[in-house]
Amino acid sequence: MTQEKEVELLTVQDKWEIPYAYSAGETVSKFLVELRDNARILATKCPKCQQILLPPRSFCATCFVSLKDQWVEIEPVGELVTYSICTEAIPGAPKPPYVVAFVTLGGSSTPMAQFLEGLDLSDIDKVAKELKVCMPVKAVFKDKAERKGSILDFHIELVK
Ligand SMILES: [Zn+2]
Repeated sequence: MTQEKEVELLTVQDKWEIPYAYSAGETVSKFLVELRDNARILATKCPKCQQILLPPRSFCATCFVSLKDQWVEIEPVGELVTYSICTEAIPGAPKPPYVVAFVTLGGSSTPMAQFLEGLDLSDIDKVAKELKVCMPVKAVFKDKAERKGSILDFHIELVK
């Protein structure tokens, strides 16, 4: 019987670029159209557990209740839940540094990710010390002509 030699494990370097498109479905489409056409943020509210889901979902994952026609308008103000200062270039992302924040808007039960803009990022250590959880934030919409029916039709800024 021959003794098998241990397999050398290699790392393969590769690069994938996968442009794609997908149907947003009824719920997300309504959300995006309201952003584009009316600069309004809509969420869905579960009639059973009262959670306000933003971005909106078509059903409550806690109660399994359909949220079709359970729309509520969200006040475009809220608070910072957490954030990340990004310093590495990623295809499709803004030129670094930039800040991705998780925020709750208008009393929503679920934080959503969005770009936090309006900060002087020339000293990111200073920014990291100044940003605090629970800081008040607001949604700032692009001008109507620039809105496309995208989550990027608005960004987040600190309330000063
Ligand atoms: Zn529920």
